[in-house]
Parts: sequence; C-alpha cells; structure tokens
Amino acid sequence: MRTALITGIAGQDGSYLADFLLGKGYNVVGMVRRSSTVTFERIRHIQDEINIVQGDLHDQSSLVEIIEEFRPDEVYNLAAQSFIPLSWKQPVFTGEVTAMGVTRLLEAIRLVNPATRFFQASSSEMFGKVRAVPQNESTPFYPRSPYGVAKAYAHWVTINYRESYSLFAVSGILFNHESPRRGLDFVTRKITNGGARIKLGLADELRLGNLESQRDWGFAGDYVEAMWLMLQSDQPEDFVIGTGRTHSVRQFCEAAFSTLGLDYQDYVVQDERFYRPVETELLLSDPSKAKEILGWEPKVSFEKLIRMMVESDLSLVSKEVT
Ligand code: NDP
Ligand code: GDP
Repeated sequence: MRTALITGIAGQDGSYLADFLLGKGYNVVGMVRRSSTVTFERIRHIQDEINIVQGDLHDQSSLVEIIEEFRPDEVYNLAAQSFIPLSWKQPVFTGEVTAMGVTRLLEAIRLVNPATRFFQASSSEMFGKVRAVPQNESTPFYPRSPYGVAKAYAHWVTINYRESYSLFAVSGILFNHESPRRGLDFVTRKITNGGARIKLGLADELRLGNLESQRDWGFAGDYVEAMWLMLQSDQPEDFVIGTGRTHSVRQFCEAAFSTLGLDYQDYVVQDERFYRPVETELLLSDPSKAKEILGWEPKVSFEKLIRMMVESDLSLVSKEVT
C-alpha cells in the first residue's frame, strides 16, 4: 500500500485529493495545524479512513518528524496562506508559510528520505500582469500580490531542489479551481452562496469588487487528479493545469444568478472595500502539455461547475431557513 502525505488536507483541494487517493487504495496521512476549534467539515466524511497528524509549515522539526514517522512515498504540499487579499495585510506571514514553508518541507524530504516524490501547488497568480495570452509553462512570471511573489519563490525552490539534489519534485501551475467546498471568501463561492441567501430571503444584496477581471475557472475535483498524474510520470516535470477558457467575474455573476432565476444586476453592488491595490486582470491557460503528456483534461465545464455550486449552496442555506 502506498502512503501519501497531504499538507493542507482540511482545505478545499486537500479534501478532494484525500477522496481521490483513498479511492486508489492509498494510506492517506493528512497534516493539519493545531487549532482551538476543529475545522474538519471538508474531511468529516473520511475522518475514520485517514491519519490526521499535527504539523505546521512554520515548524521544521514537525515536518521532519512526520516524514520520519510515516515515510510517505508521495508528498502533496497543498498548505498555504491562499487568500490573496490577506497577503497585502499579512505579507510577512504569507511569505513565511507560502514561500519559506516549501523550503522547510523540501529540506525535511532531502534530509529524511530523498526518494519521496513531491508535488507543489503553484499558482497562475504568478503570471499576474500577464506577459502572453494564453499562459503556458514557459510564460514569464510577473506576480501582482505578495501571495503571487511567495508562490513564485516556492515554484523556483521546487525546481532548484529537483536540479540540485535530483529530487522528484514537481510544480503544478494551477489556474483557479472551485467547488462547493471552496472557501466563502473567494469570489465564486461568495457569489453562489450570496445568491442562494438572496433567493431564500436571507439577504437583499451582494457586495463585490472588480467585476471585469477574468479567470480560467475549473473544478477542484479535476485538478487533484492532475496532481496525482504528475507524480506518476517517469520524468519530474512542471505542468500548467487549467481549462483553456476564461470568464469575467461579471459573467460568473450573470450565470449563477440566472441559475437561481434572478438578475444579478438587481442585487450585486460594487464596493471599493473589495478592490485590490493592483489586479491580475486576465488569466487564461494553455493546458496542452498536460493533455499531451499526462492525458489530463478537465471533465467539468464552467456551466456545470456553477450549477453544482449553486445547487449545493441552495441546499446548505435552506437548512438555515428551516
Ligand atoms: P485552502 O485555503 O482551502 O487550503 C489551504 C490549507 O492550508 C488549509 O487547510 C490551511 O489550514 C492549511 N494551512 C495554512 N497555513 C498552514 C500552515 N502554516 N501549516 C500547515 N497548514 C497550513 O486552499 P486550496 O485547497 O484552495 O488550495 C490548495 C493549494 O493550492 C494552496 O497552496 C493554494 O495556494 C494553491 N492554489 C489554489 C488555487 C485554487 O484556485 N484553489 C489556484 C492555485 C493554487 P487551516 O484550515 O488551518 O487554515
Ligand atoms: P484569486 O484569483 O485567487 O484572487 O481568487 P478570488 O476568487 O479571490 O478572486 C478572483 C477575482 O475576483 C479577482 O480578480 C478579484 O479582484 C475579483 N473579485 C471581485 N469581487 C470580489 C470579492 O468580493 N471577493 C473576492 N475574493 N474577489 C473578488
């Protein structure tokens, strides 16, 4: 039985990856940081099937100990301070976790068991003020947030450990991916949850920031399969993972509200509080390398993703009403 360690297992992607790896027969070890309140909603359904261990990307010895104890064949580093607006408010913290945390984990692997395969969750936010459209593996980076800068460091340190120490360490440049398990702060979930609250009479408006920025949105469940495929490859290589389609926040609002039988223009209010100091205006992937080499393609369309999220939020919010 193969063992996989997932950092950030209680997050959106961690929970889908755990579902996926359990389905493949893995022994799944999930690292969580200690909290006075347990927040395991996304993994409650599999809590008895996985090993949950406490560790923190801030703390080198906790990482060494976990790798020594479980000797994972594969490590998926999904833990991060992942919310971009917070990265302007807490830039040093974001750098410590999202950038330096990756070096700590790579060091633990190098010191304890360099045969471990390592996946790093890199981000399309590294392209920021895009140098080319669409973006592929050779498009230069121009990150536009402290989060994007931290992810660019993490991406390069992963490549550097691969080249310096011959580790099987790879980076998936992931475009935005969403699901009913997405955090409520991110715009897609804010829209589907906010729309459901309006539909069921719990709110009368939804305050958002920039409606014109465009994102290449896919379904998180599809992206975790790409992570796994990357670690099954013969050669350690980096891949862009996205859908190859882009939509604006406004289009997302239009589609989500119309699924609810509403017109977004009657409810969405633009609010300066949700604008960013600088914006990543347009992200659009060219995922052809992943298709060609990994045989990976997204299965869930933009339209299906929205339906899935709206239906899930309607059912969640309706429990509050009854
Ligand atoms: P989430 O924010 O849902 O999950 C991140 C997880 O990391 C949380 O469980 C969080 O724990 C954990 N974490 C945060 N800080 C630490 C720390 N110091 N030590 C240990 N664990 C920590 O993110 P997603 O699941 O959406 O994303 C997974 C990864 O993919 C992230 O690295 C993200 O940056 C990256 N990514 C995501 C994209 C997306 O669209 N979803 C796009 C591109 C990249 P807690 O629950 O305690 O907060
Ligand atoms: P990101 O691409 O990782 O930053 O994902 P988000 O879902 O946080 O943001 C996607 C886009 O939506 C960005 O261009 C934001 O500026 C835009 N946006 C507009 N209004 C909001 C809002 O109220 N919250 C968030 N999070 N983003 C918003």
